[in-house]
Amino acid sequence: MRLARPLENLIDQLLKLPTIGPKTAQRLALYILKMPVEDTRKLSRAITEAREKVFPCSGCGNLTDIDPCHICEDPDRDDTLLCVAEEASNIVALERTGFKGRYYVINRSFKSMEDKELARIDFQPLLHLLEKRGVEELILALNPDIDGEIMSRYIARILSRHKVKITRLAHGLPVGGDIEFADEITLRRAIEGRKELS
Ligand SMILES: [Zn+2]
Repeated sequence: MRLARPLENLIDQLLKLPTIGPKTAQRLALYILKMPVEDTRKLSRAITEAREKVFPCSGCGNLTDIDPCHICEDPDRDDTLLCVAEEASNIVALERTGFKGRYYVINRSFKSMEDKELARIDFQPLLHLLEKRGVEELILALNPDIDGEIMSRYIARILSRHKVKITRLAHGLPVGGDIEFADEITLRRAIEGRKELS
């Protein structure tokens, strides 16, 4: 059976999203068809508005609609603590733990990267932040997988001449897991029990 063109189109668009397979796309599309028209307008407006108005903060890489973001502008943050995250979505999880330092988001995938590819990632903004904020401790909050490990060691190496203590989250986070999906208590414990990178 051939579906109505607009419905087929909606399913095709939903299929472009991560973790959405054909069955889920179809279920979501059929659900959307039953929503009040005004709600569907709000949904499509919200998608376009978020896409157009949200961007990475020039100071830390956090997703924001004002630059610098509210975390960079917050005077009550501890300037001496800087937490390095892989993606802005990780900040949401880290904020839930009550962490009061500042952040630096790498904002790009470094999966399976070799050293020479890592060298092409621009870490100048991070070095600039270290100087500007007088950071004393850099907390590497990268995912506990092989890529996070390689990146942690790489950052430790490029910062070896800086007088900054480098720590990383304590174990307890599932190896191969994702910071974004760690529960609040595990993540808070991992921050509190952070260890210096040896
Ligand atoms: Zn910021």
